[in-house]
Amino acid sequence: MANASGKPIIITIDGPAGTGKSSVAHRLAERLGLEFLDTGAMYRSAAIIALDEEIPPTDGESLAKALGKVTLRFDWETDPPRMYIDDRCVSRRIRDLDVNEIVSQIAAQASVREMLVTQQRAIARRHPRLVTEGRDQGSVVFPDATVQFYLDASVEVRAQRRIDQLKRAGKVFDEQLVKLDIEARDHHDSNRDLAPLIKPDSAIVVDTSDQGLMEVVDELTRLVQQQVPDLVLDA
Ligand code: C5P
Repeated sequence: MANASGKPIIITIDGPAGTGKSSVAHRLAERLGLEFLDTGAMYRSAAIIALDEEIPPTDGESLAKALGKVTLRFDWETDPPRMYIDDRCVSRRIRDLDVNEIVSQIAAQASVREMLVTQQRAIARRHPRLVTEGRDQGSVVFPDATVQFYLDASVEVRAQRRIDQLKRAGKVFDEQLVKLDIEARDHHDSNRDLAPLIKPDSAIVVDTSDQGLMEVVDELTRLVQQQVPDLVLDA
């Protein structure tokens, strides 16, 4: 990996489902020698807790109580960091469709967001050289981030990417439902009262519809180097 020490730097990547945020953020972090935080994995873990404990996704109070009884943590020794609820690794489970179906409702609960945003800021204090991705990382959680990006792509391209991802993971699913799920999550995430998905004013918008993963990573790397010229990259 490139240089992991140096002065603090936070790069945020926001955007809707299926823009490739996670893969881009992971690769960009690797390229720049930074760590990588997938905040969607935290909301997805909260969704697993709701499913396991049969808590309705709209019952924010019970959800917050249940979240208070467990520890959501990443294993920073793995790359990308694996997500755990206490000692249970949920990195695969968080991608299941039953989790997808309720995660946006879970993420609209004020008490849940409050807890997870606090945890994300605490993670950034412990891991101050970070690429973090989600829906609100630039707009709400790290408004003073060193560089902010907003990734976008057409809904058709985003649905196809999710379908390819699910196929690679060997999951069984209905393709039409994948597109409907993406549209429903877009609607939910953009129209919720709390921390809706928006393009932060100072974010650089990158449309990934016609670009492959590594092209996007190259473009973002160039843009970061323009904004942070003293960031030293290993060969
Ligand atoms: O990015 P990912 O698809 O894993 O996110 C799952 C869901 O978690 C999103 O649809 C959104 O509702 C929620 N989320 C959020 N804020 C974040 C990250 C994810 O509301 N920072």
